[in-house]
This record gives sequence, C-alpha cells and structure tokens, in this order.
Amino acid sequence: MTTNPGNGTIKDPILIRNGKIISDIYTGTGDLLISGGKVVACGIAITLPPGRKAIEIDAAGHLVFPGGVDAHVHFNLPTPVGNSVDGFENGSTAGIAGGTTTFIDFVTPAKGQSLIKAFAERKEEAKNSRADFGLHMSLTSWKNEYNKEVQECIEMGISSFKVYLAYKKTVGVEDKDLVRISDSVRRYGGLLMAHCENGDLISFLQQKFFASKKREARYHAASRPPFVEAEAVFKMISYSEAMGIPLYIAHVSTQDSIKLIRRAKERGVKVICETCPQYLVLDQSVYNEPQETAIGYICSPPLREKYHNEQLWKAISTGVADVVSTDHCPFSLKNQKIAGLQDFRKVPNGLMGIEERLSILYTAGVRTGKIPLKKFVDLVSIQPAKIFGMYPQKGSFVTGADADVVIWDTNASFTVNSTSKYAKADYNVYAGMELTGRPLMVIQRGQITFEKGKFVSQVQGGFIFRNETALI
Ligand SMILES: [Zn+2]
Repeated sequence: MTTNPGNGTIKDPILIRNGKIISDIYTGTGDLLISGGKVVACGIAITLPPGRKAIEIDAAGHLVFPGGVDAHVHFNLPTPVGNSVDGFENGSTAGIAGGTTTFIDFVTPAKGQSLIKAFAERKEEAKNSRADFGLHMSLTSWKNEYNKEVQECIEMGISSFKVYLAYKKTVGVEDKDLVRISDSVRRYGGLLMAHCENGDLISFLQQKFFASKKREARYHAASRPPFVEAEAVFKMISYSEAMGIPLYIAHVSTQDSIKLIRRAKERGVKVICETCPQYLVLDQSVYNEPQETAIGYICSPPLREKYHNEQLWKAISTGVADVVSTDHCPFSLKNQKIAGLQDFRKVPNGLMGIEERLSILYTAGVRTGKIPLKKFVDLVSIQPAKIFGMYPQKGSFVTGADADVVIWDTNASFTVNSTSKYAKADYNVYAGMELTGRPLMVIQRGQITFEKGKFVSQVQGGFIFRNETALI
C-alpha cells in the first residue's frame, strides 16, 4: 500500500484502487474515489477527469468497506462507583482503531428532567469525540409535557428512544408509563429501543440469593435467567404489535428471546434485533473463575450458557438478528468492579468491545464460515446506519455519502492484550483471544486518520442528525 508522503491530512481526492469492495451499492474488486470528504464514485476501473490527480492507494488484497457504526455505546456512564472509564475522546479513538467511525451513545435525563436540556448537556460532553456520533434519548419516566419534547427531539435529529425494563430504581420505567411512552414515540415517528429484562423478577431473585449468602459473581447470572429476558422481550413485542410502533430490542442474549423475535418477524411485527460480541463468543463459565476476575465479566443481560452462542449466530445468519453492537461500557476491575467482590449486586454492569467488535466478528464469524463477508459489513455498518436513520450519509458508498472508509487487512493476526493504547480499562474480557483481521487504514470524512496501527491525523467528530428509521 502506498499513500501520499507526508502526513495523513491531505484530503483531496483519494482513489483507492483494486480493493475488494463490500458495500451497499457495489461488491467486488474495484475502486473508490473520494473527494471533499464525500464518496464520488465506487465501482470498476474508475478514471479521473483529464488533468486531475489523486492520491492513489493500492488496496489489492484488502477489503474496502464503509466505516463501522456501533449503535450502542455508553461513554462516561455515571454509576454509584463512578463513570464508565472510557470517555468520548479516548473511547471514540479506540473505536476508530478498530474500524468504527460512527457510534451512538445515550442521553439519560434524570426522572422528570427536560429532555432538551439533558440533550444539550450530553452533546457538550461529547464534543471531544474523534468519531461522528448520534445520541439516543432515554425515557426514564413520563409526564405529558414530554410529548412536545419527544417531537422536538425528532426535529433535532434524535430519532430513537430507549426504555429500560430493568433498573427500576434508577432509569427503569413502570408499566403504566410504557403505553404512554410508546404512543408518543410512535406518534412522532420515532423508533423505540428497549433493554428487555424484567426488573421486578431480578430484584426478587437477587434478594433471594443474597439472603441465602449466595453473593458471588455467578449469582449475577443466576438472578437474571433467560426467562427474565424473554418475558420482557415478549412484553415489548406485544406493545409493538398492539401499537404499531417499530421496536429495537437491544443486546439480545438468549435462544428464548430469539424464538419470540423470529415468530414476531414472521407475522410482520416491526421488530429489530441487536446482539453483541460478548453474547456470541463468551459464555457464563467465566463466572466460575476466581472472584477477583469473575466480577470483570458482569454485564446485563449476563453471559449465558454456551449453547446460546450458536443460536445467536444462527439468528444472525437467518436474518432474525440484524445488528451487532457492543453495549461498550467498561469499568476498572481494580477500582470499580471490585466494589461488588462480596456482593454481586454492587458490581457495575458493563463490558468493553468497541475496539474489538469488527475483528471479533470477522474472526469468529467470517473466517469460520458462519457468515459471508457481505453479512459482516451489513451487521457492523450498513444495517445500523439504516435502522438509526443515518443512511446513506453513513454506512454507504453511494455518491455523496460521507467518505468513512475502512481498508481491512484480512491476514493481520494478533492477540488481544489486557490493556490497550486507547481504552482505559485495566483488563479486557477478550484478552488472550487470537484474532485475525483488523484495519490497515481508516479514513474519516475523506481524511486518512489511522494507518498501519497508528494515528496519522485526527478529525473532530460531529453530531449526526438522524432521520426516521429505514426499517429493513
Ligand atoms: Zn446499554
């Protein structure tokens, strides 16, 4: 591969030649021409107008696809033991190094707080992001004044709204509010996103285990069995079906939920299913490790018995699962997860993954033959861009799309380290995993920012105005 000598900041035009392009409009060996931060042309044997010169990049032997979109990320998430460790700047940097050039985080207003005010605050917090980003609006309570604010959110480019069926004491919503929330989001054309776990059942089971001195990490999983997720999935599908509202189910982790979602899709319910790398390649046996490390794997929903992994892969290959996002929300093992060493209920919930997502999917999905290459790009980029109203600005190589490009080295093999240059956690649940496939080059809005394992320049990430979902 050759690039223009000097630095990576030269913007115009760039002609990527002979790559194996995988995209929404063209898949096959070909060229990609970008200029002014946008895609100009994509296809076979692209020529420049006479007299025009371009920086030529020879991508022969490599894949070329639209930058990854991680639709589910929690940077700086506040918890009783402090914020999740990755902030917008370093977290987005980790994402870019892994091939993700756009992410969607959350606005989480306090109960009763103005959504618009909370949005302004969160946007300010995100201003150091080095990747473009969208924001989902969490609805943690309901009052009639929110109707107007839901509409305003949509007018300001927030087209998805999240409800939590768990965590009732903090962000979770009561059933009586769910109807009103769903109705409002539907009326203004939004997409409802749901964390599906029955919070009351979890509280009951947590209390039961705690009272009988079962306080280790494995009881985190035991207090959130598959039916706790499936019950909430069924409930949300029912809301979607009854009210005609498009529904996005976040981080699906079980076969039980997949069955419900498959049936719902078959009868035409507008339901979209997300799963995450941790539910595809990790399983709950890790909760039997010594407590000091077992607590590092605590996330919600929890890791499951191994047979769920295969069922989720199957859900992906049959089109039941549509997106693989990370739910990236890491904490420090030594300083934060440790708070729950004697009580699983006190461990902050969340894992890392934004840097590893594409490499894990490529290694465990593409290289094993579980999913074809086009599916890989669909899952990590095209589908989330479409679902969350960013297409074709993102996730696309059509003329005029943002020139966010990953040139992917299919042969690069590496072992995941317990710490990374960019991520701040002091451990990694994927440490020791042998992965193959990683970005050789990342281009953000026409600018080469990452090349051969190093950042060569940076761009200022911007807030992406998102339209109504383009359901798939
Ligand atoms: Zn989440």
